[in-house]
Parts: sequence; structure tokens; C-alpha cells
Amino acid sequence: MIRRDFIAHTPDEIDRIRAAAQAAAQAREQIADLVQPGMTTRQLDEMAGAVIHALGGTPTFLGYGGFPRNICISVNDVVVHGIANDRTVIQPGDLISVDVGVTLHGGIGDTAKTVIAGGVSVSKAIERLMAGTQSALEAGIRAARGGFHVRDISAAVEKEANAHKLGIVRDLVGHGCGVKLHEPPEVPNFVTRNPGPKLVPGMVLCIEPMLNLGTGKVYVEPDQWTVRTADGKASAHFEHMVLITENQPEVLTRVF
Ligand code: MG
Repeated sequence: MIRRDFIAHTPDEIDRIRAAAQAAAQAREQIADLVQPGMTTRQLDEMAGAVIHALGGTPTFLGYGGFPRNICISVNDVVVHGIANDRTVIQPGDLISVDVGVTLHGGIGDTAKTVIAGGVSVSKAIERLMAGTQSALEAGIRAARGGFHVRDISAAVEKEANAHKLGIVRDLVGHGCGVKLHEPPEVPNFVTRNPGPKLVPGMVLCIEPMLNLGTGKVYVEPDQWTVRTADGKASAHFEHMVLITENQPEVLTRVF
């Protein structure tokens, strides 16, 4: 079997993916707005499941590779893949990353954002982490143009992360998405020797910088999911799904 290094989706698939991505974007915003100090991450996850179902979708992550919750909720030094639980009570000023997958009519949407619980003011360092991760994502999106290569996205993200003096997680990468949650190609947040495939219309990519206040080093907890920073410093995660076109990409998970 020849392993394709990317997938260009058909117009019919793109219609389904676009609808799923829009539902995921709506869910992401609604779930982020539900974050309140005093609630457990498990309570937030249960609300997230209800939000996704109310939008007509099903939670993509539930059962994926055995993942036991509706969405991933990652608090402070948890980078990604946090498992909601009854012990973690959200505190004012906590960084809460919500990563939302929605399956709808055969399409998949995957998107994430990090919010500060309680809307309290945070340190300059945390402000830099939040602003830098978002601008790294936007820089990556601007580089996702037809005719460019995956490495151009990686380079744009890396440059912005470096400009904000943030650690880049190298053990995890963005990915193709659309009909399956994870499709080729990988979309690293750092430059690799391999330029990756050329970007052609119909490709759908999840660009998702995972940036740390300290080093980019992470470890996986014994639960086999929870990814934490090695130095215990905070991490942020923002993710959009983009459709490659002839020119500027269409950001499928933008909410207008
Ligand atoms: Mg993703």
C-alpha cells in the first residue's frame, strides 16, 4: 500500500468538513464561555458534551484511541490531552485550554483555544504566552497558501514563538484533518529538514501551536494521555482548521 503524504478532499467532503468545523468553532466559543472558577473540569466536560450534541454533532474525541471524555481540558502546565476529572477545581487565573472535536454528517472539526478562568488579570509572562501563541497561529495561517509547503507554515509559527521567547513543544504536531481526525501530513510548529508536501487546494490542515513559558520539553503522565511541561511552567494551545485554496486559506473554524 502506498502511503499518501497528504489528502486533497473532494468538494462533497469539503462541504461536510466545513459544516463540522463551523459546529466545532461554535462549540469552542460556547464551552470557553462556560469556564468558571469553582467548577470541576469534569463538570465543564459534561457541559461540553451537551453543547456539542445541541449543535447536532457528536464529540469526536470520546472513545478516540480510548480517550474517556468529550473534549480535552488542559489546565496550566498541562499542554494538551488533559482528562477532565472530579478533583480539579478551576481556580481564578488558571489557564484552561479547551480542545474540541465535532463529528457531523461525516465531517470532522477540530479546534482549540486557551482562556484565563475568571477573567482576572495575569502576569506579564502569562500575557506574553497567550499573545504569542495566538500570533504564532495567525502567522502559520498566513503562510498556509497554495503553492507553499508545510514547512513554510512551520517556519512562520517558529519565528513568532521565538519572537515571544516561548518554548515550542516538539513532541506533538498539527495534522491534516477532515474525514478522519488525524490525516497526513504532519504540521510541525518548528522547521524540519523535510519541506513536507506542497500545499494544494482541497487540503485541510489543523495548525495548532503548543507553546510554553519555559522550555518545550514535555512528558506524558502514566494515564497515557495528559501531556505536561517538564519544568511545570504554563502552556497555551490555540488551533484552527484551514482549507488550502489557490491563495489565502479559508479558516474553517473562525467565528464571525
Ligand atoms: Mg488537532
